[in-house]
Amino acid sequence: MAYDQDNIFAKILRGDAPCFKVYEDDMTLSFMDVMPQAEGHTLVIPKFPAENLFDLDPEYAAAMAKTVQRVAPAVKKAFDVPGILIAQLNGSAAGQTVFHIHTHIIPRTNGIDLKLHAREMADFKELEKHAEKIKALIA
Ligand code: AMP
Repeated sequence: MAYDQDNIFAKILRGDAPCFKVYEDDMTLSFMDVMPQAEGHTLVIPKFPAENLFDLDPEYAAAMAKTVQRVAPAVKKAFDVPGILIAQLNGSAAGQTVFHIHTHIIPRTNGIDLKLHAREMADFKELEKHAEKIKALIA
């Protein structure tokens, strides 16, 4: 399948759709997931038109990993959780719903189940606060 320039993350990268940004550099962007599976669920995307890991330029794959390493500790600290789930889905059979590659950073706490994937829209005021909290903790 050819990369769809009108997918929601491509629109966010072009500035045609909003996001609650936590971090940006030349090769990546990180922002809050609007339908979080746990409070603090954050995404990292490369600034490269690829649907999945197999289409992604390796330099951008490395940049995405680097940004995950930078943002995830801030998410962990901001939400004071013992664990962080890092996930990256390739293809609808794997559960991918947005076809611009991205990595999920999801806070995990023992005994608290994840909410369903991409199901319930969060309160935007809350997401804005969460983004600010994470942003302030990024080294
Ligand atoms: P995946 O199923 O791995 O493709 O994940 C896509 C993720 O993007 C889901 O967790 C959605 O909640 C999230 N999502 C969809 N639209 C937006 C949006 N406009 N801004 C932020 N996150 C989004």
